[in-house]
Amino acid sequence: MEVHRRTPERRPYPPARYNALLLSCMDLRLIDDIVDFMEGDNMSNRYDQLVFAGAALGVMQPKHTAWREVFFQHLDIAVQLHGIRDVYIIEHRNCGAYSHFLGPEFVYDDSPTGMRLEEDEHRKHAFALRDAIHEHCARRRDEGGDHNLWDIRVRAFLMDLRGSVRLLTKEDAEYDA
Ligand SMILES: [Zn+2]
Repeated sequence: MEVHRRTPERRPYPPARYNALLLSCMDLRLIDDIVDFMEGDNMSNRYDQLVFAGAALGVMQPKHTAWREVFFQHLDIAVQLHGIRDVYIIEHRNCGAYSHFLGPEFVYDDSPTGMRLEEDEHRKHAFALRDAIHEHCARRRDEGGDHNLWDIRVRAFLMDLRGSVRLLTKEDAEYDA
């Protein structure tokens, strides 16, 4: 589902009411586009940013297991210091971390099939991280944490190299068809 890059138009989800945590890739081509996108959500200076090579894949991959620990340690600090209630995961096309972590077959061309496979792979890792965040928050609530504070919404996006953005949703997954 396409989302407008710079303005709040065509953003098919409610706006964040509080601060947010943004997870993005380290890719140098998209740093400015990510700032634009967050500004379009009226989030300027309202988000903490974590940068991992491969964004969600970077957190979830098994090669450097410490990365996952680092992500969740920072999530805890973001919740406690800034009361973040939303997590934005911004994946991107043509991500070098995919072939780095998963192998050379995870390089995609710009054909409709290549783009669909690429999106599906990003959705898989972004949703795995989303589920891990929800489990983490449930654990914090079980440990006696504030139920409002540990109620976090997670949204995942896929940006292309022009900075155009798609909201990743289950409905867009084509493998089920
Ligand atoms: Zn990348």
